[in-house]
Amino acid sequence: MSDKKGIAILGSTGSIGTQALEVIAAYPDYFDLQVITAGKNADLLIEQALKFQPNSVVIGDEIQYKKVKEALWSEDIHIYCGEEALCQVVESNEVHTVLTALVGYAGLKPTIHAINAGKTIALANKETLVVAGELITKLAKEKGVNIYPVDSEHSAIFQCIVGEFHNPIEKIYLTASGGPFRGFSAEQLKNVTLEQALKHPNWSMGAKITIDSASLMNKGLEVIEAKWLFGLQADQIDVIVHPQSIVHSLVQFEDGSMKAQMGLPDMKLPIQFALTYPNRFKTEFPRFNFMNYPQLTFEAPNRNVFKNLDLAYRAMHENGTIACTLNAANEIAVEAFLKEQISFVEIAQLNENVVNACLNVLNPTYSDYVNADTVARNKAKELIR
Ligand code: NAD
Ligand code: MG
Repeated sequence: MSDKKGIAILGSTGSIGTQALEVIAAYPDYFDLQVITAGKNADLLIEQALKFQPNSVVIGDEIQYKKVKEALWSEDIHIYCGEEALCQVVESNEVHTVLTALVGYAGLKPTIHAINAGKTIALANKETLVVAGELITKLAKEKGVNIYPVDSEHSAIFQCIVGEFHNPIEKIYLTASGGPFRGFSAEQLKNVTLEQALKHPNWSMGAKITIDSASLMNKGLEVIEAKWLFGLQADQIDVIVHPQSIVHSLVQFEDGSMKAQMGLPDMKLPIQFALTYPNRFKTEFPRFNFMNYPQLTFEAPNRNVFKNLDLAYRAMHENGTIACTLNAANEIAVEAFLKEQISFVEIAQLNENVVNACLNVLNPTYSDYVNADTVARNKAKELIR
């Protein structure tokens, strides 16, 4: 085994995945890329495999598998297909850290496998903690596994509490850009288009999280993610809209002191910190210039217009499988919105209707989560028809 840090990137062809590869390419003496995986994007996966020569690649899609095999047959790379393979490659002895950069519920199972195998988790896939935070955090504790956040807000909180682990957190503030529809009335929101929703003011991201950002579901998911990552109660987590996305989040300690982490919006920084913690490696990323930002502003989110936020708080209060149900409903709703089958405001409506229609199972087991996910997806699809 080499003394470099072996990395597996689940979802290497996505927004987080490709930026993680840039980070890894910048420190060839430190990282050893072992595994890359993609859902369907065979062309990019092949290109990445040829460039980085990982030990293994996994493609989700059966049809694309043949293409990947043909393109890489002469390379010294193992090529696999499907969900089971995803769960196995993360267990390899050569892998130290698993970066979960795939999107949605699909992240849950491979993350469980990685934790069971004692791998450090760099967690971008927030849905994993939303769906099964109780199970994941318990398992990680049992296995002595660290989960380092990649999500910028959670990385900010993490960076603020380094060196403060013995000091209780009184409260945290997660900042939100407000998305493209900040300041819109309920009436205005009725007429927004897919094209408008896909234009995030400050970040370039995958389609699902971009829509979640516009509907504030992303902030709802992040509130739940923060609860599990930092062991907080719902009333210790607040959301504040900060349109410039410079303050990435804040912690308030019990003496009233507040710490914030700041910088230009660039996901490469939190990705890198999760992969190099406790070290900070020198980068050439553009630096913040105060003269370009004479004002940093803060305002309350409009919870009457953006209803997803309250749904997330409700899920946090009620515990059990309700957050899993909410996540599943939202995945189906966003998919339908991206296909222009439902309107933007119908996303939050559908989420609420599905949550109200589904049973909340308390103290859930893994199979309770799987079941809640399936039931919620079916209910959401039925309501869309
Ligand atoms: P993306 O859509 O750009 O990329 C998703 C990746 O996952 C791709 O490589 C895709 O091939 C793969 N994938 C998709 N479905 C899959 C499946 N069913 N099985 C296996 N692989 C699958 O998404 P993204 O924007 O990079 O986001 C990834 C995760 O990181 C999400 O959970 C998101 O919420 C989180 N996140 C992203 C950002 C960001 O800036 N993009 C910021 C914070 C958190
Ligand atoms: Mg975020």
